[in-house]
Amino acid sequence: MEKFTELGLRGEILKGIQDLGFEVPTPVQEKVIPVILEEENDLVALAQTGTGKTAAFGLPLLQKLDASRKETQVLILSPTRELCVQIGKDLQNYAKYCPEIKVTCVYGGADIRRQIRELEKGVHVLVATPGRLCDLIKRQAVNIDAVKSVVLDEADEMLNMGFKEDLNFILDETPETRNTYLFSATMPREVERIAKNYLHDAKEISTGKKNQGADTVSHEYYMVKAKDCYETLHRIVDCAPDMYAIIFVRTKVDARDITKKLQKDGIDCDALHGDLSQSQRDDVMERFRAKRLKVLVATDVAARGLDVDNLTHVINYNLPEDVESYTHRSGRTGRAGKEGISVAIIHSKEKSKLRRIENIIKKKFQYREVPGGEEVCRAQLLFYADKIMATEPKETMDKFQQELFERFEMLSKEEVIQKVVSFEFGKLLKKYASVEDLNLHEPEGREKREKKGRREEREGREGREGREGREGRRRGERRFDDDEYDYTTFSVNVGREDGFTPRDLMAIINDNSPRKGLQIGSIRIFENNTKFEVDVRGVHGFASCFRNISFNGLPFTLTEVKDRYNRERDGGRSREFGGGRKKSGSGKWRSEKRRNEGSTRGRFGEKKRGVEGGNGRSRKK
Ligand code: AMP
Repeated sequence: MEKFTELGLRGEILKGIQDLGFEVPTPVQEKVIPVILEEENDLVALAQTGTGKTAAFGLPLLQKLDASRKETQVLILSPTRELCVQIGKDLQNYAKYCPEIKVTCVYGGADIRRQIRELEKGVHVLVATPGRLCDLIKRQAVNIDAVKSVVLDEADEMLNMGFKEDLNFILDETPETRNTYLFSATMPREVERIAKNYLHDAKEISTGKKNQGADTVSHEYYMVKAKDCYETLHRIVDCAPDMYAIIFVRTKVDARDITKKLQKDGIDCDALHGDLSQSQRDDVMERFRAKRLKVLVATDVAARGLDVDNLTHVINYNLPEDVESYTHRSGRTGRAGKEGISVAIIHSKEKSKLRRIENIIKKKFQYREVPGGEEVCRAQLLFYADKIMATEPKETMDKFQQELFERFEMLSKEEVIQKVVSFEFGKLLKKYASVEDLNLHEPEGREKREKKGRREEREGREGREGREGREGRRRGERRFDDDEYDYTTFSVNVGREDGFTPRDLMAIINDNSPRKGLQIGSIRIFENNTKFEVDVRGVHGFASCFRNISFNGLPFTLTEVKDRYNRERDGGRSREFGGGRKKSGSGKWRSEKRRNEGSTRGRFGEKKRGVEGGNGRSRKK
């Protein structure tokens, strides 16, 4: 408690969190509480769910409240009904010893008239979803003129869910003098834009890196054929008897199908997807929270704002379209400093997508072999044995004990164990007696080739060109020479800051270009944009590759660069880097410069250059 006192928390609020068992503040609480309590600054906090951020803003805001004034002083906006209700409950717990503080939640999908009646009674802290609050403001059923503090919780999710207009409307309705505290797990440009428009002198606080997952989450992947995904999932679930997990799938149909199959295979699970009514959804969540369900199969949309503690695993049955979704999914485990595992089931073509996710989350995925029958059975039996060992015999057993002992009199201890286990696990042992090896063992050498490709990419073009040139000439091949091509330069509006890599660019072109065999020249990744060259013979219709595509939620804008570089190229010779560029083989200075800028080059579909097809994060809208 001492640490909380040092942060400036006092009396009743401290008593409230003591009852909840909080002893020391989490990192985000250490940073946020003093700012809200003592400073006038607005705040942008990069914090994952599960880091204790509700208390980080909730505790100081409750303490700062003047409960004698009967007006709404704190407004908390959150993306979903579930999160809204959770925040409301948390705040009520923190304010357990401040009964005069009134906290109310308003959200869509519930009777608005009842909410209006609640609001009429007066409320100090209003927790709301943006859509419902807009409704209430328009009906003049809520007064937010005296709001002093606004919290935007899970701002990225609110924008993902299309609440941008509503947020603008609400923020415009609150007093200019308010303080705004923005919390987000990721920082896409849209969130930065909101922060820029509505926050003043905002202090930035981060307890992780941008778009990066919690430190306590480890990431694992299994690589199998698409047809074996379900069986792999089933074995992973069976192999972790104490699993408490969310399985993420892309569509409602998948959610329904997989749930049915798992239920048929004897696993306690249910589905959460957009077709459920609110009461069905509440029912599923109640059973999941009470741990009557071992796993919940959910779509990303349905799982938004879900707040469940102590998940042991998050399973990506399919990889999500974009990395931000991956961060959100995996952030549901490893909460409050606990360890968690984020599992991805992929097929061989998705390895490049996995690498792209690794680049952003700055963590490596560990390869795991799909468990075989023996492994699954061992895990189940030992778990069962441990549970039996941990069980205290019940006193009420006493009266039956003698009779039971007599029944088993003829058997040795070993025989009793064998019989009990066979009785309990007969079906499982039979099922797993002989099962197929589902692992996709890559042909030897492929990993090595990939590693080599990556090494060459790292070493830069100069070394590669020299080596390839020498080897090519030795084999009597025609040497690749830039001067055979005339290029047009294009620019796209994503760059290093967005996690964009040459691989991403090549994947987009590979997937979408109407022309095969197109020559791509240099690719230069800058902070906020990327410039690259395309052989002029393939330029016709090329712009369509980027139409309706987004990268990490940001729509692409492709422009042709009409600069000195192109004009000089038109004259037959490029001097982009200060002149003197002649043949590529002699371009030492140029390649060094390009390497500094994250340069690479590639021919469409040329895997040798470390560029693979299949575009993970880009998305046709
Ligand atoms: P949140 O990120 O606000 O959803 O919090 C995640 C979980 O951590 C919740 O169950 C909180 O009750 C718990 N929690 C928050 N702060 C602390 C703390 N200082 N000590 C222990 N548990 C905490």
